[in-house]
Amino acid sequence: MVRDECGECEGVLSTLKKRILANGSIQYMHQCDACGESMSQAIQKVEAVKINRDIPNWDKGRQTEYRQKRQESRAEEKEKRVKIYTKEYYAYLKSEAWRLKRKAVIEREDNLCQGCANHHIEDVHHVTYDNVGEEFLFQLMGLCKNCHSRVHYGENFESWINGIVDRQVIIEDMGANQS
Ligand SMILES: [Zn+2]
Ligand SMILES: [Zn+2]
Ligand SMILES: [Zn+2]
Repeated sequence: MVRDECGECEGVLSTLKKRILANGSIQYMHQCDACGESMSQAIQKVEAVKINRDIPNWDKGRQTEYRQKRQESRAEEKEKRVKIYTKEYYAYLKSEAWRLKRKAVIEREDNLCQGCANHHIEDVHHVTYDNVGEEFLFQLMGLCKNCHSRVHYGENFESWINGIVDRQVIIEDMGANQS
């Protein structure tokens, strides 16, 4: 085993392997023990046998297995976040801050639904979820129940909360940690 750093995972251990390519030619190179990626250039056979006289075969399944596991753990992580955000969102809707914001919107709109102007405001709708918790008042709109359900027609809670999490993940991936 050789200590190095894998470009694909956090792995540092690799093993020299014998790899038979599609065209039948044989290559000797180090394979990451953790994820199965190659961790070195091909090595000459004379050099390879100096390292190990009995070189094990390339583990083809390792890579697929690793990718599958990584995908699974990402899905799990996402599910966890969806739960957290859902909980936080509902907690926020019960907060004093939200109550005051709601009140300000209803006052601004003279308690008239902005969808039909026929009913009083029953719900304060998020035009965007970009600033949940720190909304600008222009991102909120008062609606009656009927108009509100029309706005959200075809959407379900799960799909938009998933959207929120996906956007968060994208933003984090881009490394933009703006507050
Ligand atoms: Zn690796
Ligand atoms: Zn309405
Ligand atoms: Zn809404």
